[in-house]
Amino acid sequence: MPRALLSALLLFSSLLPHSALAQWQQHQWDVMGTRASVTLWSEQDAAPLFAALEKEMSRLNILLSPWVEDSELAKVNRLAASEAQTISAEFYALLEKSRDYYQLTGGAFDISFASAGHLYDYREGTSPDEETLQEATRHIDASNIQLLPANQVRFTDPGTTIDLGGIAKGYAIDQGIDLLKRAGIEQAWLSLGGDSYVLGDHRGRPWGVGIRHPRDKDAIAMRLPLSDIAMSTSGDYQRYFISKGERIHHIISPETGKSAGELVSVTILTEKSIDADALSTSVFVLGREKGLALINRLANTSVIIIDQQGEVYYSDDLVPPE
Ligand code: ADP
Ligand code: MG
Repeated sequence: MPRALLSALLLFSSLLPHSALAQWQQHQWDVMGTRASVTLWSEQDAAPLFAALEKEMSRLNILLSPWVEDSELAKVNRLAASEAQTISAEFYALLEKSRDYYQLTGGAFDISFASAGHLYDYREGTSPDEETLQEATRHIDASNIQLLPANQVRFTDPGTTIDLGGIAKGYAIDQGIDLLKRAGIEQAWLSLGGDSYVLGDHRGRPWGVGIRHPRDKDAIAMRLPLSDIAMSTSGDYQRYFISKGERIHHIISPETGKSAGELVSVTILTEKSIDADALSTSVFVLGREKGLALINRLANTSVIIIDQQGEVYYSDDLVPPE
């Protein structure tokens, strides 16, 4: 190579943004009633990406929160029993997904759990009295949610209230990971409360993702080596209070309107966060036997269950052959 060209190339390469900037960058913030956290590898300053993630998750919160007065969801809760409501294609698709899970789980996953679920106040530590609860529980039935053509939804029962809390965080993570991938990011860990996705690896090895100890918030029950996978944990320790010695928490059995009591922690591993999120809530409600049976018949889906006694159970794909 001619000397002049070589020195020109050397000069040029020293002008390029130097990869000394390439580094792990981290950001945390509060959204959707929980803590969001992202760690990623980038050669550029990731601040604009972090801002884009915050913006997308706030957008979803405003779309889906039952507590934001003019969210689409709050509007549907107020009006869909009187008249069919036209909603965004995005919200409609989430209602369809919720209906699929309602059918797949034989009714364990039911977004109309909120018809009774919203009578609990976990912060204040209050529950409805038995009579009020029984009356409200009669309205838990996702077959009262009619999905009509042209993105319309109607409730056939005026006592119906819905809440996408069992699926929204998973969806938000999938959206966030898409955003990062489109920006060229190949290695990242994105989490929202008990839901996370790990993209690529971490310094050439899998990421070590912990499952929280259900009764010791500073301890990890187990750590799993993971890459390119979604993980969701549903636990009875996320939102709860103790009343008369009983743990009242946020995962509701649609049959009783009360907290599902058999398990303390359910972790799902699968390809998409939306599915991991819906299934962790579902298995928590179904209990060990039915939950394991469900996961064992789904492709590319694993579960780790911890019950009240502290026993740990795994789906068949995680158990080594004898
Ligand atoms: P977290 O929201 O703590 O990450 P989960 O994924 O376990 O936990 O979801 C729990 C949330 O799911 C509850 O806060 C509530 O919004 C919703 N939920 C509770 N019971 C049900 C149910 N039977 N079917 C569908 N969603 C439910
Ligand atoms: Mg869930």
